[in-house]
Amino acid sequence: MRELIFLKPVLKEMIWGGSRLGSDFGYDIPSDHTGECWAISAHPNGNGVIKGGTYDGHTLSWLWDQHRELFGNVPGDRFPLLVKIIDAREDLSIQVHPNDAYAREHENGSLGKTECWYILDCDEGTKIVIGHHAKNWEEMRAMILEKRWKEFIREVDLHPGDFFQINPGCLHAIKGGTLILETQQNSDITYRVYDYDRLSGGKPRQLHVQQSIDVITAPFETAKTAPKKWKKEDAVVTHLISCPYYSVEKMDVDGTVSCQWTQPFVNVSIVEGSGSVDGIPVKKGDHFIIPSGYGEMKIEGTLSLIDSWVETGKED
Ligand code: ZN
Repeated sequence: MRELIFLKPVLKEMIWGGSRLGSDFGYDIPSDHTGECWAISAHPNGNGVIKGGTYDGHTLSWLWDQHRELFGNVPGDRFPLLVKIIDAREDLSIQVHPNDAYAREHENGSLGKTECWYILDCDEGTKIVIGHHAKNWEEMRAMILEKRWKEFIREVDLHPGDFFQINPGCLHAIKGGTLILETQQNSDITYRVYDYDRLSGGKPRQLHVQQSIDVITAPFETAKTAPKKWKKEDAVVTHLISCPYYSVEKMDVDGTVSCQWTQPFVNVSIVEGSGSVDGIPVKKGDHFIIPSGYGEMKIEGTLSLIDSWVETGKED
């Protein structure tokens, strides 16, 4: 049987970051402005290192290049997904991502970015920015150039357990007091539209106004998500989304559950509790990849997992 591939996360300091990646997840954080944990990542800006087992010490991008059979021989010049945990102590800038076609042309062959957020925790009364109120492209452009932010930005209420799909062209931002797990295409291309006129080291951070106007969808369209929930032995499974780039599921286990994995590979993040996976102890903050052909797995304990995989065109 193939072995599970555990990864050592890459932690990133951000001006808006906090300390919950240390206090809640037990990571060795570089400072109390730690904003992101790149948990399952083969991106050059944070290439995860394999922890233990046959491939100990190698990076995930190395494994993708050298042992594609572990990933079901999925084609592609880079590992397709990136899983992060984000701790926002302060508001993030209002931003938008390009699609693949725009990124390929304007960002040196990079992938575009579709992403989704599972809200792990948030302060009472926290809001989130999803979309805008401009009626059409001209109004969107005018609202941005005239800095009519209050009128422009669309905010919605937020609760732990909420889920959002962020398609390219969707304006978005998380606000202070929010802890999320993000599953996204493996890309780091972000266009910052508005940064609340904040200064970083005495200067405003760079904005990308023209690129943002190029890629923002107007009028805003809500991404359709229809989470489905079912019971499976001692677990509750919630299928959060399937889109052309990924599928994401949450599993809440209280006891024992057997899973049969048939996907090319599956990313798993333990987001709550502890237990074991085929006898290997796991706890909140652990991340691993189930390789292709792994087959049946027994999960035991009281724990919550978020898992993701790439869509390969087959119906499930
Ligand atoms: Zn984003």
